[in-house]
Amino acid sequence: MAEIRRLPPSLATKTTFFSALAVIGIGAYCARSYLPQARAESNEPPVMFSGFGFTTLRVQSVKAVNHNTKRLVFEFPDKNARSGLSLTSALLTFSRPAGRWLPVVRPYTPISDLNQQGTLELMVKQYPNGKASSHIHSLVPGDSLTFLTALKGASWAPNQHPQIYAIAGGAGITPIYQLIRGILDNPSDQTKIKLVFGANSEQDLLLREELEEYKRRFPERFECVYTVSRLEGEKEGLTKGYVTEELLRGVVDGKGEGAKVFVCGPPAMEQSLVEKGILDRLGFEKGQVHRF
Ligand SMILES: Cc1cc2nc3c(=O)[nH]c(=O)nc-3n(C[C@H](O)[C@H](O)[C@H](O)COP(=O)(O)OP(=O)(O)OC[C@H]3O[C@@H](n4cnc5c(N)ncnc54)[C@H](O)[C@@H]3O)c2cc1C
Repeated sequence: MAEIRRLPPSLATKTTFFSALAVIGIGAYCARSYLPQARAESNEPPVMFSGFGFTTLRVQSVKAVNHNTKRLVFEFPDKNARSGLSLTSALLTFSRPAGRWLPVVRPYTPISDLNQQGTLELMVKQYPNGKASSHIHSLVPGDSLTFLTALKGASWAPNQHPQIYAIAGGAGITPIYQLIRGILDNPSDQTKIKLVFGANSEQDLLLREELEEYKRRFPERFECVYTVSRLEGEKEGLTKGYVTEELLRGVVDGKGEGAKVFVCGPPAMEQSLVEKGILDRLGFEKGQVHRF
């Protein structure tokens, strides 16, 4: 299904890259303990992901959010530990799905507060015959999942841009949501955010309650436009259709001067926005656009 996307542009290239990382990771296996790394001579809480090496976390809870997506909470061995991840990071998971000889390495983006102590949460969409996503969907509380390392995304500095535009499609909301919550939860970051979130159905508008809560708390700084391609009838607060140039024209102010655009969605959506020129025509230069 067109929606998996997230592995930009060449899935094959990325898969090879992640496999190579896995091999390096095996080499690094002994170099890191399973326990969180305490900061030397400091009272700061230990961090879970401070370098390269295997970290195995126990599944604390699993919740289905729709027909193909689950939220899973993982607990840290030390309940005071924090993830230690920077904004827009993903975590590389390392799993051995049942019946497979070779391990599978795939990135997933925490949706919980990165500074939260004791746990982190992932939201994972299962793809038909998806190796890692099916394995993760098979986990129940008490099982565990191994993480190889953190992957840094776009660098973010508070107030670097007065305005950002975030464009997400389907499960591509996870890195966008991490960024949104990181900005809005930081009292010293005053960046304004406009989100355009496209999904196949209303049930696929993941994290909508959380987004609505941010909208309620930050009405001056956070706006959301939801568009649903398979919308039955009319629904208040939802537009029907894909993320189109016309839709974005109604969202972008002026020529987008000084703004940054973050995009994460299915390949077709990202291609039409970035490679086929929609963002260009809206006035954004290449350096203003980041694809997760
Ligand atoms: C930085 C980053 C962060 C990510 N964060 C999340 C997240 O938080 N939550 C989440 O659910 N997913 C996330 N993903 C996607 C995730 O890493 C996997 O690509 C996805 O779960 C599919 O893996 P799989 O092993 O289950 O599928 P595979 O076994 O690799 O593939 C199963 C089927 O799906 C197709 N497929 C696989 N990947 C794609 C793709 N990217 N686009 C189109 N078709 C594809 C394959 O062609 C095959 O037919 C992220 C990806 C990246 C790069």
